[in-house]
Amino acid sequence: MAVGVLALQGSFNEHIAVLRRLGVKGVEIRKPEQLQYVDSLIIPGGESTTMAKLAELHNLFPALREFVKMGKPVWGTCAGLIFLANKALGQKTGGQDLVGGLDCTVHRNFFGSQIQSFEAELLVPELAAKEGGPETFRGVFIRAPAIIDVGPDVQVLADYPVPSDKVVNSAVASGSVGEKSGSNKVIVAVRQGNLLATAFHPELTADSRWHSYFLKMGNETGEGTSSCISIREME
Ligand code: GLN
Repeated sequence: MAVGVLALQGSFNEHIAVLRRLGVKGVEIRKPEQLQYVDSLIIPGGESTTMAKLAELHNLFPALREFVKMGKPVWGTCAGLIFLANKALGQKTGGQDLVGGLDCTVHRNFFGSQIQSFEAELLVPELAAKEGGPETFRGVFIRAPAIIDVGPDVQVLADYPVPSDKVVNSAVASGSVGEKSGSNKVIVAVRQGNLLATAFHPELTADSRWHSYFLKMGNETGEGTSSCISIREME
């Protein structure tokens, strides 16, 4: 068994490259039946409405929802986070289908357009606690969403100060790292059981700790990636 990476659009190759560096086989997923060959899944960043249209075209939504319901580890990065959210704001007219399962409200393109993309040093104590290294992680935010509300079972892993021009009542998160309160911050990384979501792109950095963290999630709960085998074993 190996780690599936939804390969409809976006940065799936980059995720597979990081997995390869960690000695793990990433399997491109484009059809519902391919999900049976993997025991965890990464939904990459890209453009969530395009990805949703392609997922619809390939009839992937029921299988993806089932995969999440089975408690298998799933990690959504950026557009992948939007896919996993129970509710998304800032969608195009008519909305778009979501996989759901992650008890949060996400705001698409929260930080603005492509030219307002940025990098920022994030404080992620959980990552340092589990993976070692610094308490900070360099987040690459590309037309990134932000999480503006989370349910009680959601663990906030990282937040980010709300840009001053964005301080509007509805766009301020009700959570912050280590506690579920705080005002002028939005949430940019969360975990809810076997679901992991980041508003930024760890696959575009040289720091592979988020991928290592994800690979261990299945082991912690007895689901998923425990049976990951290395590429060397497969070849
Ligand atoms: N803004 C994009 C969307 O709504 C997500 C951007 C990304 O994945 N880098 O789909």
